[in-house]
Amino acid sequence: MKNILKSIVLIAFLFLSCSKNDNVENVLINDNYPYIKQVGYSANDILSDKIFKNIYFEVMYVDGFKPTDNTLNNLKSFIESRTYKTAIVVETRLIDISLKSIYSMDDVRNIEDANKTMFTDENLLVISALFLNGNSSSNTDTGVVLGTAYRNTSFVMFEETIHSFSDSPFEPSREVLESTVMLHEFCHLLGLVNIGTNMVEDHQDTEHGAHCTDQNCLMYYQVENGKSIKDMIVGGAMPQLDLFCLEDLKANGGR
Ligand SMILES: [Zn+2]
Ligand SMILES: [Zn+2]
Repeated sequence: MKNILKSIVLIAFLFLSCSKNDNVENVLINDNYPYIKQVGYSANDILSDKIFKNIYFEVMYVDGFKPTDNTLNNLKSFIESRTYKTAIVVETRLIDISLKSIYSMDDVRNIEDANKTMFTDENLLVISALFLNGNSSSNTDTGVVLGTAYRNTSFVMFEETIHSFSDSPFEPSREVLESTVMLHEFCHLLGLVNIGTNMVEDHQDTEHGAHCTDQNCLMYYQVENGKSIKDMIVGGAMPQLDLFCLEDLKANGGR
């Protein structure tokens, strides 16, 4: 599958190289495309088709914590509607790691580094998504972390925590909770709010970092918190991006 994909990408790339001289320059840049930069660094590269036409998600999961097919379909639809990427490939792979019950962000980075097999090259931009058992070491009495975007092309989902807040009476469905958290983390990679994608209008909730002031927006800070997110999933529907966040993405090369 990877070989076929690489061939397709290469053919597309060769075609582009022939048609546009400036793409030759991009090869040199992309051969060493960084993946340990800060969140938001790649916002424009993910949103636009200026350098990368295609996007590849390497979804690495621990046994028992694979995301649902519908969650991955929601991700694809979101990328289609918000970015200019032509081909969107999402591949899932079981990883064998020494399991912990609590993961620090250092642990998360080490797991990515030890298991990552796909790297950004030519016109294929690679995103790493980790789905782990266990909980985040940042959990407190009032805040339970469901997911974290931690590098320019990487995010982690604390999937066991997500399981514990979904699919029981008075809780959101697994698919809706998982999709909401995943799209929230992906939007941080898209530079929201005000981290790599400039604001058209001021709507940053500075008290809570890179989040939106609109309480109904997908980028409201409570979306990452297991204790409060259920109040935002009204009638089983996922929160959407508000007009301010949508406007920012469009202004930075998105749809
Ligand atoms: Zn967030
Ligand atoms: Zn917003």
